[in-house]
Amino acid sequence: MIRINDIIDKVAENHPGSDLSIIERAYIYSARVHHEQLRLSGEPYLSHPLEVAGILADMKMENISVAAGLLHDVIEDTHATSEEIKDLFGPDIFRIVSGVTKISSLPLKSSQERQAESIRKMILAMADDIRVILIKLADRLHNMRTLQHHSEEKSRSIAQETIDIYASIAARLGIYWIKNELENIAFMYVLPDEYGNIKNFVNREREEREKYIRRTKRFIREKLEENNLKGEVSGRYKNYYSIHQKMIKQNLTFEDVYDIIAFRIILDTIPQCYEALGLIHSLWRPIAYKFKDYIGFPKPNMYQSLHTTVMGPTGDRIELQIRTQEMDHVARSGIAAHWSYKEGSRIDETVSKKFAWIQNLVENQEDFSNPSEFMENVRIDLFPDDVYVFTPRGEIKTLPKGATPVDFAYLIHTEVGNQCSGAKVHGRMVPLQYELKTSDVVSIITSKKHHPSKDWLNFVKTVKARSRIRQWIKTQEKDKSIVLGREMCEKEFQKHRLNFTVEVKSDRMTEVVAHFGFKTVDDLIASVGYGKITPLQIVGKVVPKSESDTLQESIIHKLIGRVKKKKPNAGVVVKGLDDVLLKFGKCCQPVPGDPITGYITRGYGITIHRTNCVNALKVNPERQMEVEWSKKITETYPVKIRVRSYDRVGLLADIAEGISKNGANILYASTETKDIRDVDSFFTISVENIEHLRRVLSTIKKVKHVQEVKRIA
Ligand code: MN
Repeated sequence: MIRINDIIDKVAENHPGSDLSIIERAYIYSARVHHEQLRLSGEPYLSHPLEVAGILADMKMENISVAAGLLHDVIEDTHATSEEIKDLFGPDIFRIVSGVTKISSLPLKSSQERQAESIRKMILAMADDIRVILIKLADRLHNMRTLQHHSEEKSRSIAQETIDIYASIAARLGIYWIKNELENIAFMYVLPDEYGNIKNFVNREREEREKYIRRTKRFIREKLEENNLKGEVSGRYKNYYSIHQKMIKQNLTFEDVYDIIAFRIILDTIPQCYEALGLIHSLWRPIAYKFKDYIGFPKPNMYQSLHTTVMGPTGDRIELQIRTQEMDHVARSGIAAHWSYKEGSRIDETVSKKFAWIQNLVENQEDFSNPSEFMENVRIDLFPDDVYVFTPRGEIKTLPKGATPVDFAYLIHTEVGNQCSGAKVHGRMVPLQYELKTSDVVSIITSKKHHPSKDWLNFVKTVKARSRIRQWIKTQEKDKSIVLGREMCEKEFQKHRLNFTVEVKSDRMTEVVAHFGFKTVDDLIASVGYGKITPLQIVGKVVPKSESDTLQESIIHKLIGRVKKKKPNAGVVVKGLDDVLLKFGKCCQPVPGDPITGYITRGYGITIHRTNCVNALKVNPERQMEVEWSKKITETYPVKIRVRSYDRVGLLADIAEGISKNGANILYASTETKDIRDVDSFFTISVENIEHLRRVLSTIKKVKHVQEVKRIA
């Protein structure tokens, strides 16, 4: 078992001057609460947090991370309480430990492989402090190293999860040594046969290969020296799991995988790296598509290196990585290399600078040859805009931040959304507007009688929910409109002695549908229901044109024929004048009751206008005369009115009836069709006074389909 003093020494070496007592206190506390607990191996439980702290110290992590590593299992596995940890070790350690606990207690279930990407994103999104992830990785690494104590089935499932989730996260953070070790151990448990085969193959001609490695290393070193380049050259076997993956991906047998050995050249400066690259390329022919410049274009996890593969002297391929010391350090420990925490500051300055720089890359991602891959790796990790929630069966669903149970319901299924009547989070009822949080377990209550509400549109966040709710509302409205439209059409057709039910199936109807620009008869009928077109317009298209035209004309003729033309007479008293020639302004057609003003017109006596008539206002005020309506009026006066309505058969007749019913005469009538449904009817009617006019107008207003009745002048 690793000793606490060794761990403390490492931290002291890497972070001189930091407070080491917190590590000691964490160790003592952890030993106390884990007391008498044993691991499956039979060792005291304390060995696990100690090893985890040791891995963290090896990663050059600082005192807080190492102390949190010692405490990472106490909340979950012992009687220790959150309050105690907070009181004894402060808010930072508490936050990190509870972050690790939260990830460890995620209700992850089977079918993880399919959901691996969601789980990885969720874990990264959950950690507000990257140290949570690093501790979780160290925890998993030690658990993998001691996996042999589990049952075969259990160890296989843990190993699979390790490949799917944790090795990927380690790679994403650039901690390749953890990624490689996790993968290699997991590979052994998940595919023991394949693992054994590769191991045998690698070892079979081991001596031969070792010789080859030594020869090649020496050759490269000599060439570097000849060119005054000082560099370290190393050669190593690739990890078994990546050899296995390569065999699968490219469908190769082991003999065909020639680049199982990779060489690495470490130099002092970046120019030296490019110089060495030029040298290698001049010695051996490079394979063009294999060349990658991660110095000029670092990976999102800050990995930098030149990668190239060349055809070696005997025609075999040689894979090379060329980089500086510093880059090599980053390549080994990834993001942790930049994580030299100072007390009080959560993010090291160089890290935030690098992150800003990554953000810049994201914004200029068109420069990348494979932007989708780049985005996949970076954006979601660094800018977690998503929340990850569980279905009751443990499946993970990804939703945008701010999403609600309604969004979740529609994500599950449109029907679940449409019948969503309530929601529970962790078994407790929540409002439908509730904002979902990562790791919420959400269940939706549905009811066949329940329907989407327009209000939902105010709070849903996903495009899917929004469009499905809209669609539902639209369908509902259309259904109603079809019922209404059909009823209106049936009545209208009946009036014209036509059977709508029969006509609707006729070929002529197909033409009518096309004429109005619809695809189906239902659309046409619905648009009648919506009030977009009138049933009469449909009749007009079904009945031959001349017939319907004649219909309209004859109505107007009939009306005009009934009109008795009658000239209006005076009835106005001009103050101080008895016998004077009077005329009424044609522009405003005053009716008894209207405020009026007289104007002297040369040669024509006095013209009477309504006081507010625009023409009258233009006349010189000197010509103005005070006038008033006489008390006894027996005359009727003409007045123009305009009736706006939706067109229909019998409209004019009904209006005319309304006028004559009130004892007014029609002097003139005309109609003007404005667009497909609107019609303006103009009438000049004779009324006794303004009160009489009002009665007529209000009667007309009640006529079916009349929209507006107005006196015009
Ligand atoms: Mn643990």
